[in-house]
Amino acid sequence: MRTPPNPAQATVIGMGPVGSLLALELARRGITVDAFERRPDLRAKTISAGRSINLAVSARGIAALQNVALAETVLAEAVTMRGRMMHAVDGTLTFQPYGADPSLCIHSISRGGLNKTLLTAAEATGRVTVRFEARVEACDLAAGSLRVNGEPVAMGEGPLFGTDGSASVLRRALLDDVSGHATEDVLDTAYKELHVAPGPGGTFRMERNALHIWPRGAFMLIALPNFDGSFTVTLFMPSQGLVSFAQLGSPDAVEAFFATHFADVVPLLEDLTGTFFRNPTGQLVTVRCAPWTDQRGRTLLLGDAAHAIVPFFGQGMNAGFEDVALLSDALDAALEGTRGPWTEVLRPFATARKADTDAIAALALENFVEMRDRVADPDVLLQKAVEKQLERTMPGEYLGRYALVSFHRVPYRVALEVGRVSDAILATVCAGKSRLEDVDLAWAQALVRERLGALRGMGEGVPARQKVTTR
Ligand SMILES: Cc1cc2nc3c(=O)[nH]c(=O)nc-3n(C[C@H](O)[C@H](O)[C@H](O)COP(=O)(O)OP(=O)(O)OC[C@H]3O[C@@H](n4cnc5c(N)ncnc54)[C@H](O)[C@@H]3O)c2cc1C
Repeated sequence: MRTPPNPAQATVIGMGPVGSLLALELARRGITVDAFERRPDLRAKTISAGRSINLAVSARGIAALQNVALAETVLAEAVTMRGRMMHAVDGTLTFQPYGADPSLCIHSISRGGLNKTLLTAAEATGRVTVRFEARVEACDLAAGSLRVNGEPVAMGEGPLFGTDGSASVLRRALLDDVSGHATEDVLDTAYKELHVAPGPGGTFRMERNALHIWPRGAFMLIALPNFDGSFTVTLFMPSQGLVSFAQLGSPDAVEAFFATHFADVVPLLEDLTGTFFRNPTGQLVTVRCAPWTDQRGRTLLLGDAAHAIVPFFGQGMNAGFEDVALLSDALDAALEGTRGPWTEVLRPFATARKADTDAIAALALENFVEMRDRVADPDVLLQKAVEKQLERTMPGEYLGRYALVSFHRVPYRVALEVGRVSDAILATVCAGKSRLEDVDLAWAQALVRERLGALRGMGEGVPARQKVTTR
């Protein structure tokens, strides 16, 4: 076991995916963890429908799970997604693989199943105690006390971690303490989850190894496969306006809307109008805040509490898991086998990490526009085709933005910068062209070498591609 910092105790608020992983990671280093979770124990209750039933996990999340020896367990019940399956209005299907190499894929996993696995593993260490149905209402950082379900609770002597999600109570207390600042930008697009039931014998009624997208400009539908053969389908649409959730106030309106825009999936959707009106309409928020630590360097926000992002790159949880993995690396580097204090670690970690979470927030918003408006655009399709050629013909030299974010672990800010330069190169070589064979690939390669030279070897040294087999 690695040397724990001093003191070997920590308090965690929020045992969602990131809090549970953090508690497990800390416990594996010998740290005693006292955790508070406002919801009941989800191993005894079923998770409520309508809030992101499944999630895409990719390289960063998998690497963090590997650190706690749980990647294989989690991926044993995942469904591989090798690319996007585009559904045109007339039902025509077009498959866009994620990479030139078919082993480049992301994995659809159950949010509830993942959370249960992490909680069980954390408790099994014997060092993690979780109080469920324990809502932290306030945090007095100077006094080192919390108010939980109306009662004062003294914190342990170790640090306090806030993994309590995008509406974090600790973030508010922290920012008051340090006169910090936060913005919570609510996207004008909201979401609603629907369901496609499995076929007979747990078969998949659409292509199973794909993330399905019905891009329709101002709105879109997506579907991710579940291990039991079902699909979780999500409608993303403006809250207000001409085509919006506000216009879908009756079963007739919902049926007509789906028949017009998503006719091919309508026969597969289970109880469309019942589910539509039963499930909540969720909001999507980008949280940016600074700092993530208090004056004493004894408090740290992680996951959505520090940096909630819109879900269009499938990176919110992956980024939160990467926080935990990088914090663990920072502990190793700072303590070097000594029992040094936490304060040497938390603030430098938070300062260094923030530039990357700001970058993934920007990437996620950019991908929203791409998925919604641009995936069916012929110019974009040509640029994607050229990008695939570059990835194939320049291994290790050229990696597109999606690959850098999803299949590699280079810092997100590098993926953002490289993506912008790549866009400019692709736009330059594709200008005025409509066919792949008309694009000057040698010119594109020369531009890559000239402008993206720093990329050379970037994929080396990181466990980029997860060699795992899932369903
Ligand atoms: C529609 C949608 C699709 C998504 N798809 C993906 C995807 O494909 N891939 C991906 O990586 N990410 C995805 N995300 C993002 C992902 O859901 C989040 O980034 C992730 O859940 C963050 O985990 P967390 O543990 O930080 O926060 P949360 O999951 O919000 O967990 C916070 C926990 O803290 C508890 N809590 C909150 N307040 C208190 C309190 N005061 N006291 C005690 N406990 C408290 C909550 O009950 C909860 O258990 C998606 C998000 C949405 C909305």
